[in-house]
Amino acid sequence: MSVVGIDVGFQSCYVAVARAGGIETVANEYSDRSTPACVSFGPRNRSVGAAAKGQVVTNCKNTVQGFKRFHGRAFLDPYVQSAKSSLVYDLAQMPSGMTGIKVMYMEEEKVFSIEQVTAMLLTKLKETAETAMKKPVADCVISVPSFYTDAERRSVIDAAQIAGLNCLRLMNETTAVTLAYGIYKQDLPAPEEKPRNVVFVDLGHSGYQVSVCAFNKGKLKMLASAFDAELGGKDFDEVLVNHFCEEFGKKYKLDVKTKPRALVRLYQECEKLKKLMSANSSDLPLNIECFMNDIDVTGKLNRGHFEEMCAGLLAKVEAPLHSVMEQAKLKKEDIYAVEIVGGASRIPAVKERVSKFFGKELSTTLNADEAVARGCALQCAILSPAFKVREFSITDVVHYPISLKWNSAAEEGLSDCEVFPRNHAAPFSKVLTFYRREPFSLEAYYNNPKELPYPDPTIGQFIVQKVVPQANGESSKVKVKVRVNVHGVFSVSSASLVELLKPNEGEEPMETDSAGKEEEVCVHCFRTTSEDGKQEKNHAPSAKKPKVKTKTVELPIENSLHWQLTNDLVNLFMENEDRDTFALRLEDTENWLYDDGEDQQKQVYIDKLAELKKLGQPVQERYIEAEERPKAFDELGRHIQQYMKIVEAYKTKEEQYEHLDELEMLKVDKQVNDAMIWMNSKMNAQSKQNFTQEPAVKVQEIQAKTKELYSACNPIVSKPKPKVEIPKDEKEEQNGPINGQEDTDAQPGSPEKGAAGSTVAPESAEGNKMPEMDID
Ligand code: ATP
Ligand code: MG
Repeated sequence: MSVVGIDVGFQSCYVAVARAGGIETVANEYSDRSTPACVSFGPRNRSVGAAAKGQVVTNCKNTVQGFKRFHGRAFLDPYVQSAKSSLVYDLAQMPSGMTGIKVMYMEEEKVFSIEQVTAMLLTKLKETAETAMKKPVADCVISVPSFYTDAERRSVIDAAQIAGLNCLRLMNETTAVTLAYGIYKQDLPAPEEKPRNVVFVDLGHSGYQVSVCAFNKGKLKMLASAFDAELGGKDFDEVLVNHFCEEFGKKYKLDVKTKPRALVRLYQECEKLKKLMSANSSDLPLNIECFMNDIDVTGKLNRGHFEEMCAGLLAKVEAPLHSVMEQAKLKKEDIYAVEIVGGASRIPAVKERVSKFFGKELSTTLNADEAVARGCALQCAILSPAFKVREFSITDVVHYPISLKWNSAAEEGLSDCEVFPRNHAAPFSKVLTFYRREPFSLEAYYNNPKELPYPDPTIGQFIVQKVVPQANGESSKVKVKVRVNVHGVFSVSSASLVELLKPNEGEEPMETDSAGKEEEVCVHCFRTTSEDGKQEKNHAPSAKKPKVKTKTVELPIENSLHWQLTNDLVNLFMENEDRDTFALRLEDTENWLYDDGEDQQKQVYIDKLAELKKLGQPVQERYIEAEERPKAFDELGRHIQQYMKIVEAYKTKEEQYEHLDELEMLKVDKQVNDAMIWMNSKMNAQSKQNFTQEPAVKVQEIQAKTKELYSACNPIVSKPKPKVEIPKDEKEEQNGPINGQEDTDAQPGSPEKGAAGSTVAPESAEGNKMPEMDID
């Protein structure tokens, strides 16, 4: 089992692994610990990470970055539509309605889903981890912004699956940071003492997240979190880009926004300038040679002026700080430290504002860039049985209040109830009790759409099926378990019906409520139980409870989730990934052959070939099988049909076969039936397999069956008729065309002739038809 943490940032990604020596952030093939979240599509290959970043200017239309926030969003989502206008690559609508990325790849126009693009990135990060650990990687923990909704989270889980990663937990970036902080602290207050409250501030490239967390020895509890999903380093870059576009427009008469290449270069230079301004308050130059129309451009700026231009952005720093303090009901004196992480929190004006708000010096205990990945690796180590990690319990929170809506006969309309209030502990399960006579549906939604950085508050619909009334016609008690899981995703995880039994029925007596009325299914009357079975809240009437024997029946639940990729689609994308991985490996090997591989020891080539065959051979074999299988079945079917015909003709005493031996013909009849049953069962099994699975039956087996049938039957049915003297003129008539055809039709050719899959029996309308059989 691998222990890997992955921080998929909007701009850059980090991979941390757990080794005997502790947690380590690993470097990629460029000896860089940060890997750009960038994928570049070319006419012959694609590159990911640093190599792709190098193509941003030269192949700008097909070099994709800044796609993190398109996860789980429809193409028509206002966020996508507004981001689209500032991208140099194209977006397109997927058939599902989701956002896709349109590029030229391998000289063809392609639209990739966000999950596919992120999977490409994750595959790269997985390889980085594999190189560092020198072993295959599957298990990992991946971070997501704490403000991601369910649709966004599910989309990242799908991307991980496409990349062949087994994501043990989608961890909130904020929570990963708190873990990376807390687990090493030796001086935390004892569990019974007042906890140590620490505020964490992460300003990344696209988002701003603040959280407050309570630490005691061996545990952390998130108290609250807040965010501004539209504040990040890129917004500061945007201010600079707009400033210089305007300046160069006036100074050089250049319309920069019409030239994607120039615009991309300007973004790069503005980001550099922004970083320089963090360290230096004097005037700093911005020079770009041959910027547009062969013109060199120059400009300058200083920090003071920059801060004036960014006043609007800087004013947004305070609100989330306020919000967490208010939610956690803490005063500034209750805060032990304010830790800052994230690249853009290096902007001095940002730091100043945070520090001023708390009246405190900021702490930088953590590595601002790597803390998220390290926290994820720590979580992975905690989850891994292969690692011994100090006991540390992590209690995360639900970020948006979640409600359920359902139809209530008693209230003649919709009832609803908040099942997880904001900052409720997570992961967490609750059991709700309903009283129903028939299947019913529950709709989950975020009940405060205003604070949601996502246009649709719907989470999904869950239909509890197979609900029936009790034997006496009364409503049944249905227990529904709802859950916010380790990934922070809501689900209706199970449902069961409590069947009341007559006193002599059933094995386990259970106590049940006597109040079995449907009217009681409303906000005030359902009962919730926490995961450990402890009752949390019980508004059910406390009437005397007679002991009744019951039986619990599990009920199926049908999910229809907001923007969920279907399993088929995920599988298809996975296959595409495999194909692409193989294609890239082939290409690499080809390049190697013309380069270092031109003159090597024989064994080197043997090894390379064996490595490629490991990937390619099973695919090739399945392909050949899939091509040849229908022909082999066809041939067996034809043999079966033809022997059947002869058996029929024999039974109806057709003159042509009357000389055949009765016992032997019974044997033929049996052989044919057995072969038919065998073929039916094999076809049936094969029809359940898809192309990527091992075939249920091999072509060779089918051919062997045909041969066996032929060897058993042919000597019997082709016994020549005893010679009878025929008068001369009749003999001529019998050799006519009709008899000739009958003969060939009834005598199948030897299957050996057809070993290579060629047609054996002569073409005849009937002879070519497959026998009818049951394939269900
Ligand atoms: P997100 O967390 O939003 O998904 P990310 O994790 O990729 O994005 P970070 O790597 O934390 O983001 O931060 C990148 C941002 O930090 C960029 O905008 C970058 O320009 C900015 N940044 C990095 N160093 C500095 C600096 N010294 N001064 C100002 N900004 C900086
Ligand atoms: Mg980040």
